[in-house]
Amino acid sequence: MLLLLLLTSLPACVLTTILRRNVVALLSKPRRVQRLEHVERPGAAIALLWVGHATMLVQIEDRFILTDPVFTETVGGAFSRRLVETGIAVENLPALDLALVSHMHFDHLSLGSLDRLESRLPQLLLPQGGLVYMPRYHFAVDEVKTWQSVERRGLRITAVPVRHEGFRYGADAAWMTTSATGWMLQYRGKTVYFAGDTAYDRKAFLATAARFPQIDVAILPIAPVEPPNFARPSHLDGREALQAFLDLRAKHMVPMHFDTFAHGIDPKGYATRKLREAMQEMGIDEERVHILPIGGQFVLPEAARGEGPQAQLSSPLGSAGAAREGSSRFSSGPAAASVRRTSFPSSPSTPLR
Ligand SMILES: [Zn+2]
Ligand SMILES: [Zn+2]
Repeated sequence: MLLLLLLTSLPACVLTTILRRNVVALLSKPRRVQRLEHVERPGAAIALLWVGHATMLVQIEDRFILTDPVFTETVGGAFSRRLVETGIAVENLPALDLALVSHMHFDHLSLGSLDRLESRLPQLLLPQGGLVYMPRYHFAVDEVKTWQSVERRGLRITAVPVRHEGFRYGADAAWMTTSATGWMLQYRGKTVYFAGDTAYDRKAFLATAARFPQIDVAILPIAPVEPPNFARPSHLDGREALQAFLDLRAKHMVPMHFDTFAHGIDPKGYATRKLREAMQEMGIDEERVHILPIGGQFVLPEAARGEGPQAQLSSPLGSAGAAREGSSRFSSGPAAASVRRTSFPSSPSTPLR
């Protein structure tokens, strides 16, 4: 259905680019990533592993949450093929406490991925109205209305407002108006914001910041960037994501939703280049925005919280690989086990379902 919307709303040249990218992607295998051997970070306040697209493995102390879990090779049928493999295999995931789905689009709600996660997942949270799309699973599935919270094992998860479409198929757009949300994750005084997909909505971000004044990390999408008249009404580009980050008054930002699937026209590296340009123009410190490669991890040690932007990035690629992936701030650091860690200075094919 997303494809149908594209067909009716995009210029022919844009459609041609998207179709060409998908044909190329269909003929090639997803690029391999070197995965971290150990993803659990004992003693960390917060650790975020980018699995790809909007899928983040969020560790807050001893709790593990998966956002918008997508582990399939395609989303929405044969279209939108994965360009890069996932940053972790399903079988290597730690014991999960929760999974969160931000909205019903195929690149965020992947029923094929939930099939694979079924035996590992105790509970899934959806935005209001999302339950109608769910088959029966062994895990609990609950809807959460905006500003309502759910507690589980000390975790407090709150649905927070974003501006995005709630439909899944297009024809359901008329009545699916409430099923897109951001999520706020809180545990033992640590707070992580996950936007899902959203357009820039200052009012929503300021209202969220007013209720959650101590956000440690904001996970924000930065693509698609092009074409603007199609992307901007429902997605953030790098500049808008940075403004959202400032509105939210979060301490750190981790970008997502780029360079994973062939379903836009942004060339590889374009969204992060735009993000960096905007960081320079807006004077936002590089120590606060952490651009991960898929499979890379952002680690916020307990000692770094409240002392400014001290953090660590773990990349299975090492500093050179991370730089290739687009981060300008990975630097050589002490190795820990087989994983190169860096410190900052103080200042599968799935049927369409
Ligand atoms: Zn979406
Ligand atoms: Zn999306």
